[in-house]
Amino acid sequence: MSAARLFHGGLAVDADHAAPRRLDVLVGADGKIERAAPEIKPAAGVEVVDCTGKILLPGLFDMHVHLREPGREDEETIGSGGRAAARGGFTGIVAMPNTDPPIDSGGLVRYVRTLAREQSPVPVWTSGCITKGRAGQQLADIADMQQQGAVMITDDGDPVADAYLFRRALEYARHFDLLVACHCEVPELSRGGAMNEGARSYRLGLPGIPACSEEISIARDLQLARLAGGRIHIQHVSTARGLDIIRRAKADGVRVTCEVSPHHLLLSEDDITDYDTNFKMNPPLRTVEDNAALLEGLLDGSIDVLATDHAPHTEFEKNLDFASAPFGITGLETALPSLFSRLVRTGKLPWDILVRAFSREPRRILGLEVADFREGLPADFILFDPEASTHFSADTMESKSRNTPFLGQTLPGAVVQVVLGAELLLGRKQP
Ligand SMILES: [Zn+2]
Ligand SMILES: [Zn+2]
Repeated sequence: MSAARLFHGGLAVDADHAAPRRLDVLVGADGKIERAAPEIKPAAGVEVVDCTGKILLPGLFDMHVHLREPGREDEETIGSGGRAAARGGFTGIVAMPNTDPPIDSGGLVRYVRTLAREQSPVPVWTSGCITKGRAGQQLADIADMQQQGAVMITDDGDPVADAYLFRRALEYARHFDLLVACHCEVPELSRGGAMNEGARSYRLGLPGIPACSEEISIARDLQLARLAGGRIHIQHVSTARGLDIIRRAKADGVRVTCEVSPHHLLLSEDDITDYDTNFKMNPPLRTVEDNAALLEGLLDGSIDVLATDHAPHTEFEKNLDFASAPFGITGLETALPSLFSRLVRTGKLPWDILVRAFSREPRRILGLEVADFREGLPADFILFDPEASTHFSADTMESKSRNTPFLGQTLPGAVVQVVLGAELLLGRKQP
């Protein structure tokens, strides 16, 4: 067993403090936080990790990740996705169930969790499907999946188009207090679309996906949640109006939470300039007005969670023309540096809100232990160097797929260490 470690000289941010403050953290040999205080003198036999100039953040948590295993191990595996998560500063992720076969039974939930324990450096939870085979015809075995450890259900990739079936899913899940997460779109409105519908899609000659496809679906799901009770979570909100519908439902007592992805905050349809398919995802990049409204929603608490919707695809698939290429971009490794460089460093997003939305809230919503610097808790934090930078290339990224709009870029800020229990996940040289 390793010795106790003192993380000394750094600044910490958490969900309750907007500004970084001096904090030393002593982690015992058992991996638990023994002490956290502004100044801790190193005792004999304690290994000191110099954190001068570094920011300590509670480990991030991503409740929306596509790991592609089983079925598309050429795009990502649970192991490579777990390593990408660690590299990005995530100490917990939730796998989406749209694999091949889809995760729609207790047996498959158990299978994914077993693989995760064997292969991923960070804990991986999984969601289960709402409907069998994600086919939208009959409910999956929700009770069995929850018993085997599924932390939520979703048919992500598609909505549950049948409103009656979705109502039954909500009613059923309510009995187990299981979260129902929704990918909102009306297939009849978005089918064939490749990007946000509007002046820009007309100019580029690309088929559009109207904002109302998402907004109508959000409104329907929230009305059904009001009727059925239970907890509902709207995935990857991308439009100002969609967010307003959620705001109204929250004010009305519907038990709804929602998430926004970094790309829907940072990028817009205007960034699609040369048919680069690394800007194609679903929901699509919307307008700069939507970016601003979503940021406002994150700041005022209407948006509870940041989630990447990490969606790996091979170069071969993404090399198709814009209209034919699959939806989705990777996000685990780019999330923190991109948010830091564009929003935190510029004073638009305080650290405490980032920690709330990308660490505390997703864990709280899923009933998992929250990562914090409290004495007695398992060590679960990351070291972030605001003066370093991160380059995104095939050589530096852990994900098997590189379909990110940040490919080839260097962004300010770098995750230099991940501390999980007694383990240092990023090797010893970096901090
Ligand atoms: Zn989705
Ligand atoms: Zn997704």
